[in-house]
Amino acid sequence: MASISRRYSQFFIPTVKEIPAEAEIVSHQLMLRAGMIRKLAAGIYTYLPYGLLAIKNTEAIVREEMDRAGAIELLLPGVQPGDLWMESGRWDYYGPELLRFKDRHKRESCLGPTHEEVITDLARREIHSYKQLPINLYQIQTKFRDEIRPRFGIMRAREFIMKDAYSFDIDEEGSNLSYKKMYAAYEAIFKRCGLKFRAVEADTGPIGGSFSHEFMVLSDSGEDDIVSCQDCKYASNLEKAEVTIRESDSKNIEKEEDLQIVDTPEMRTIDEVTKFLSIGPEKLVKTLIYQTEHGPIAALVRGDHELNETKLRNVLNVQELTMADPETVFDVTGAPMGFAGAIGLKVRVLADFAIKEMKNMVMGANKNDKHVLNVNEGRDFQVEQYADLRMITSSDPCPRCGGKLVFGKGIEVGQVFKLGTKYSTALKANFLDKNGREIPIIMGCYGIGIGRVVAAIIEQSRDENGIIFPISISPFEVTILPLEMHESSVRKVAENLYQHLSNLGLAVFLDDRDERPGFKLKDADLLGIPVRATVSLRTLKSDSIEIKLRSKPDLRLLSIDKTPKAIKEVVQSLYDSLK
Ligand code: ATP
Ligand code: MG
Repeated sequence: MASISRRYSQFFIPTVKEIPAEAEIVSHQLMLRAGMIRKLAAGIYTYLPYGLLAIKNTEAIVREEMDRAGAIELLLPGVQPGDLWMESGRWDYYGPELLRFKDRHKRESCLGPTHEEVITDLARREIHSYKQLPINLYQIQTKFRDEIRPRFGIMRAREFIMKDAYSFDIDEEGSNLSYKKMYAAYEAIFKRCGLKFRAVEADTGPIGGSFSHEFMVLSDSGEDDIVSCQDCKYASNLEKAEVTIRESDSKNIEKEEDLQIVDTPEMRTIDEVTKFLSIGPEKLVKTLIYQTEHGPIAALVRGDHELNETKLRNVLNVQELTMADPETVFDVTGAPMGFAGAIGLKVRVLADFAIKEMKNMVMGANKNDKHVLNVNEGRDFQVEQYADLRMITSSDPCPRCGGKLVFGKGIEVGQVFKLGTKYSTALKANFLDKNGREIPIIMGCYGIGIGRVVAAIIEQSRDENGIIFPISISPFEVTILPLEMHESSVRKVAENLYQHLSNLGLAVFLDDRDERPGFKLKDADLLGIPVRATVSLRTLKSDSIEIKLRSKPDLRLLSIDKTPKAIKEVVQSLYDSLK
């Protein structure tokens, strides 16, 4: 993929020996140390030449696969008019991640965090007939999201490069096909990037729509929790994973006992209360008070379960959902935090399905330092709606096949969404179908974080000495290390090889600096170019050049005249291994 050769002395790679204190994860450390990126402000980075080459190689793969899938490239503006966002309804919904400002004419504007509004506006102006459909338009462009916690370098930045594609179809069937094509293109892209990844079912979040998959790079430093089945193909983002209800095996036939209030001084947490009362957490009910734009609500989950806020948000169909502050909790329950219960609440009460099976529950008494025993739904309090509100656990079965679940961490590098007519209806992007009927276009959208892909590659492919670039992404394909640059014999062979390999069309990086061998070898390991050719007085004794792969310990001595062809073949085989 890379195509230009460079000499270290005439290039710009400010490497760093020490591990930068600001970097929490290894890919961030390595990108700073290898002179790929520099921070300008929180979440805002400069791509230095070496980093930019890796970015460009990633973009080239993305472009090739998008073009191959029939998508067409364009470039939309980064600054967007607020009016469009008000029309779609997201001006109020998107929250502080949307960086808003007014232009000199006092018009509301924003920096684009994503481009559904802008592309739908284009579609409603330019697409009028079924004859113009289907079409898939994409761009590779800088996005801005005012992330609450930018971190990990360009992995979670505020300004970052994204590929975003938008499909427009006449019907569901067409839209499904567009989705499938993008899904397949994403698999091809991440494979060519050398990534170990998995597509998982995902929540649609603020983009909205009906159906979605995330492409997750498997990595311990990932911020997303993913769950997958050992026995079938099921894989999901943890926040989206449905819990199967097993009513039959847990029908509770216990007799309802009398209510009893007990003292639980200073006992607020599940741990404290269960120890103090000598009961298991599965007897306890957590009463969680949340604030929404329609006022506070209460959500009940079993003591040993964890509430899933994404599910709760979807069930409530609200945009704002935050844990209530202590004052609100007091207003709603009449007690300080830690002693909330469901009895006598004047707000909506939702409960997880598991609560339905419980008898003689223990919960906060809505009085300071008190809990209540033997609470029963129906008799003592009412639930307005039961729903799947909790996080799935390792003891739950696979929601598809009942098999065993495993948990892991992932880095989300891409996401595909079926949008349906969410944006086309809001913005009136209609077309005339074959029968002359005017109907909304069916849309899909598809994103890939280009910078995050590069960071994820490094996170997955490295050792204690530095980066191990896959050949497809590496800024250069081959690095030549003349260990004694001041020796004319060494210099000459290295220069010749540099010319020869460049003429063969390879992207070569010649470390022509007059530095100590150890220093140059360390830098070569840090920079991670996949193929290394070392020329030294020692190798020249046998008229040879030493070849080493960055990913393997083996060294191979090759005669000087055989080296260029051998290297060309090695490079080709590295590309082939990514197919
Ligand atoms: P996240 O959940 O990580 O915040 P998202 O789901 O909000 O991401 P999408 O709207 O799906 O992101 O954007 C498409 C892709 O853009 C993501 O899959 C990711 O690779 C990339 N991306 C999103 N936010 C960032 C960011 N802050 N920095 C770098 N890349 C990002
Ligand atoms: Mg996403």
